[in-house]
Amino acid sequence: MPDTDLPSIEDFIRQVFEQNFAELRLDSGHALAPDVKQTALNQVLLYWQKLSSIAENVSDTEVRLSLPGQETARGRDFTIEGVVDILRENDRTIMYDIKTHNADYVRANLETYEAQLNIYAHIWQRLRSQSLDGTAVIATDYPEDVQSALESGNLERLRYALEGWNPVVEIAFDLGRVDETIRDFGAVVDCIEDGKFAPPALTRLQTTMPGTRNIRFGTHVCRNCDARFSCAPYREYAQGSRQLAERSVMQYFSEAPGEQEQEAWRTGNLDAMMEAGELRRDFSTR
Ligand code: SF4
Repeated sequence: MPDTDLPSIEDFIRQVFEQNFAELRLDSGHALAPDVKQTALNQVLLYWQKLSSIAENVSDTEVRLSLPGQETARGRDFTIEGVVDILRENDRTIMYDIKTHNADYVRANLETYEAQLNIYAHIWQRLRSQSLDGTAVIATDYPEDVQSALESGNLERLRYALEGWNPVVEIAFDLGRVDETIRDFGAVVDCIEDGKFAPPALTRLQTTMPGTRNIRFGTHVCRNCDARFSCAPYREYAQGSRQLAERSVMQYFSEAPGEQEQEAWRTGNLDAMMEAGELRRDFSTR
């Protein structure tokens, strides 16, 4: 007979989510706007709702994979690391990489995800001598129709939208491409170490992201980039002309959050500071 005193999994997720959020807020001193926090919680709850069979059967969680001793073309040592979940069921072993990305975007950019999972598969099979039958990405960013169904509060519409969403993207692994991927990682390491951080050209920002309905790189990627206000191609993109971009920063103020969102941030950060201050007092009196 089930123990009715136990919280449901959804209640447990909400409780642990709040605990994690409080800890992260104390640690970083940053809060999240209510809608952003709700989106994060929705991703976890929907992950459970859609993929409870995977979540319940994962045999190894947060498996850290490491490939040390690599060398770049310019002679620098580097290590590749990743974290995956492993599911062993019916003599089959599947490796899952959880991403907070959109599943359509993952499907449209399979090569990028294949390269990363190939490395993890190589470490798992060759270096750890473990069997592997498949790899997949779990994309937790839910699509627009799920978002609008959530906002409508219409459970039937939500059920229909969830049925049409497949967050699991199977990825074929090809260990023949591992050396090429390691070389690509090495090239990035050399760029970072050599201080080559040049942003892409404006034309790149104007291209449509594969797997999206006409959403451009400058909107999809740059709007989430902390460096955008000091990035010349983004200034051009945002203003629509180089001349205006160099004369004015007013455009960026128009991107500032609304009054309600700003108030939520202020309150959240003040709360975090008070709690951090209380913690410091507690520890300093001991
Ligand atoms: S805004 Fe950020 S992501 Fe976009 S081009 Fe500039 S540096 Fe790159």
